Order: sequence, then C-alpha cells, then structure tokens
Amino acid sequence: MSQMITWVWKLVYRPHNLWARWTKQYILKDSDIWQAKASPSFSWYWHNVLYARDHFLTTIGSPSLAIQCLQNFTHGLKFITLLDVKDCLPTIDRLIGRGLYLVNRCSLCECASENVSHLFFACSYAQTVWSSLLDWIHVTYSPTDLPGAFSWILLTQSLDKRHIRSCLLLATVYYLWQERNRRIFAGLQRPPEVLGHLIRFAVCSRLCV
Ligand SMILES: [Zn+2]
Repeated sequence: MSQMITWVWKLVYRPHNLWARWTKQYILKDSDIWQAKASPSFSWYWHNVLYARDHFLTTIGSPSLAIQCLQNFTHGLKFITLLDVKDCLPTIDRLIGRGLYLVNRCSLCECASENVSHLFFACSYAQTVWSSLLDWIHVTYSPTDLPGAFSWILLTQSLDKRHIRSCLLLATVYYLWQERNRRIFAGLQRPPEVLGHLIRFAVCSRLCV
C-alpha cells in the first residue's frame, strides 16, 4: 500500500519528473490521478495503484484531506504506515476471518472482542492510555477510530501541533500493539501508566531529532 501511494504522490507533486510525464501521457491519458478510472488495458500494477488511491481516499475521508495529507509527505508517510497497520495487522477477528479457530477476546481488557478499532481506541485499557496522553498535550478530543484520528490531525492548523499529534498516534498504536503481543506471547503485563510513560518518552525523543 505504501509503495502504491508513493506513486500517487509522485504524480501529484513531481509532475515534471520523466516517469510522471510518461505515466500521465501513456497510462492516464492526461486524466487527473484523483479522477482516473481503471481500464482493461492497465497492468496488474496500475490496478493496484488505483485500488490504493481509492482506499486512501476512503480512509482519509475526502480528496481535500487526502491532498493535505500528501502535501506534507513526512506526515503522509506516517498516515500511510497507519493505513498499512489498519489493513495488515493480524488481529484476532482477521485471523478468524482467514479460517483459524480462535476465541476472540481482547488481551488488554479481556472483556470484548479484538479488532483494530477496539484495540487502539475503544478498549478500556487503550482509553486510559489515551486519556493520560491527551491530558499531557492539553487536548480534550479523543479519537474513536483511525479515520477519525487522521482527520483530527489533518485538520489541526498548527504544523507543530500536527507533528506532535501524528507522532503521538504512531507511538500509541505501536506500544498498544506491542503490549498486546507481550501479553499473548510472553504472558507479561504492564499497567497503562507505564505505557503512557513509554509513549511520552518516544514522542519527546522523536521531536528532539
Ligand atoms: Zn480491550
């Protein structure tokens, strides 16, 4: 997914690049990448690029937000990484969907089914972590899913705040997933306060480089 969206970014922001010019002329026939429709003559690769574009637009919410996201490619890459997370993480609901016989119980709260939205946002454990982090950056809004978190960040006017919030989202997803795996595969547990501390440290380290 990340690689496919990189091609979209190059078409939009590197229009004079030789590859971009060739693609626009011979593949897209001068149509806009946001409007282009798949053609039977397209290769498998170009079908995947357009599929990634549609998925990106659907997840981000609107073409204007998607453009904002791609305008700052550093932030864009973070979102794209999160799109990969959203699509690829082997959460229990997905493993069951692939035919595995498993009991679907969240290892963080042990009282609900596990899926991406629950694990990273709705879970009581995740909410305790989020609450301490949002207090830390003096924000009252609490994202409830990944698309909502994307919009929350992209609609933030201040570049500095946007950077802090995107680092916070990435680090929180990373450490919640790590905590979930520690519990399942090593039988080790950390209280949400410890995770909050680790995430704050990761964000501060990231902001200082
Ligand atoms: Zn839970």
